[in-house]
Amino acid sequence: MPQFPTDILIAGQWRRGSGEPVDTIDPATGRVLATVHSATAEEVAEAAEAGARAMAEPAWRNLLPHERARVLHRIAALTEEAADELSALQTADTGKTLAETRALALSAAGTFRYIAAALETAEDALTPPRGAYLTMSVHEPIGVVGAINPWNSPIASDAQKIAPALAAGNAVLLKPAAWTPLVSLALGRLTTRALDEFGLPTALLSVLPGSGRVVGDALVRHPLVARVGFTGGTSTGRSIAAVAAQKLVPASLELGGKSPTIVRADADVEQALAGVMFGVFSSSGQSCIAGSRLFVDRGIYDSFVGELVARVRKLRVGPGTDPATQVGPLVHHDHRDSVAAYVDLARSEGARVLCGGTAPEGELHRDGAYYLPTVLDGLPNSSRTCQEEIFGPVLVALPFDDEDDLVRQANDSVYGLACGIWTRDARAAWRLARRIDAGTVWINTYKQFSAATPFSGWKESGLGTEKGRDAIRAYQRQKSLYWGTSDAPLPWAH
Ligand code: NAD
Repeated sequence: MPQFPTDILIAGQWRRGSGEPVDTIDPATGRVLATVHSATAEEVAEAAEAGARAMAEPAWRNLLPHERARVLHRIAALTEEAADELSALQTADTGKTLAETRALALSAAGTFRYIAAALETAEDALTPPRGAYLTMSVHEPIGVVGAINPWNSPIASDAQKIAPALAAGNAVLLKPAAWTPLVSLALGRLTTRALDEFGLPTALLSVLPGSGRVVGDALVRHPLVARVGFTGGTSTGRSIAAVAAQKLVPASLELGGKSPTIVRADADVEQALAGVMFGVFSSSGQSCIAGSRLFVDRGIYDSFVGELVARVRKLRVGPGTDPATQVGPLVHHDHRDSVAAYVDLARSEGARVLCGGTAPEGELHRDGAYYLPTVLDGLPNSSRTCQEEIFGPVLVALPFDDEDDLVRQANDSVYGLACGIWTRDARAAWRLARRIDAGTVWINTYKQFSAATPFSGWKESGLGTEKGRDAIRAYQRQKSLYWGTSDAPLPWAH
């Protein structure tokens, strides 16, 4: 069993938060793992002020990019070394399988390494002058950054914000979700250890768990917070964007989705079956990019969906610590109840429940927040079940007649996060990939990620981009320098 942290990281100090206590539970058993006392608005202010002071310290301010990259490499190495411990911690806190949480810890390390490499190789542009001067565009840190994350993949989404924000020269206030603070606190410990080893101010990172209403809101509103990086639900994103707009500070928003997965009649059926199941049921469907709307060519609809349902029934649902488990519990019993309520809504809308539609029975599942992988059909794309994000192991299948019908239905959504296309026809894949409204399209694969490839949501799935080389620039401000080269005075010299 890993050690469960209970102290929080405020302005470089580990101490008990002064806010409300929140029990974090193991959703496989309902057992309380740790009670973490939340931060308060005053502690958010303390962290913001200390972060601003730390940013101004010469040790950090004057650190050259290749030196800052070494710090990021050290965080990556510490994260990699601790991968097993981080994985056990995250599985206990979120219910995800150990295979997935280990991959997430390694992906966080990979993000720090990639951003370090991007930092070392970033260049500023000398722009063509239009007068007697040299012109140059440089990039400065933006200030104290607020990073707010949801509970579904904490360490990976933490790294996607902390790495570029530190690379850019900022200080970071990280607010993990109230249900899952443990792995973010552990990453905080590794990051401050690396900062300390390099003699840098540890107040460059604070980790401030607590509710969105108290801690998240205080963080976004604090005058020193000059940029917000947010991942979470669309309605929360909208209210954060409203506050940021009032303050006139940038906010990037990675929000919800209801992504279409398309199976054409010419698809490799074996690949498509495995891909569709993995795309929606891995992480128990608690993934912004889950392929939760399945569009199948009407000509193969009955046979494909029939075989899919037969295989979904065989998925192994159990604790994330069992290597045989494919679908773990949901993050929390309250969330399981909200998923169950959505399936009840689907029934009331007239859905056929082809499999699942209930919590599993038996001793193993009795106390956990489990829900069976569920396949529904018989609903139009306009139904609430097809339009709203359920964020659980629920797939809704729909037939399509031709490409125009498919594109119309797939794009008829407020979301535009991701899409999967299963086909052997390269030209059809190209046409479809270009016509679908989505920030990411996978062709004959799904849920693959590279730190080097930009990630962004279209429509109500988000605003702004994470990952890729430009991730660092998104946490900087541009400054243009004009450097006079003429000995002649400007016209008003006399
Ligand atoms: P949420 O919006 O309820 O919460 C996300 C975070 O925001 C939490 O830390 C929460 O405490 C905080 N928060 C809530 N209200 C706030 C406020 N008023 N001010 C500041 N902070 C506030 O989302 P959730 O239920 O934790 O996560 C699930 C959602 O996240 C889903 O909609 C999912 O699609 C989305 N998500 C998106 C991506 C992406 O990259 N697009 C990735 C993962 C999850």
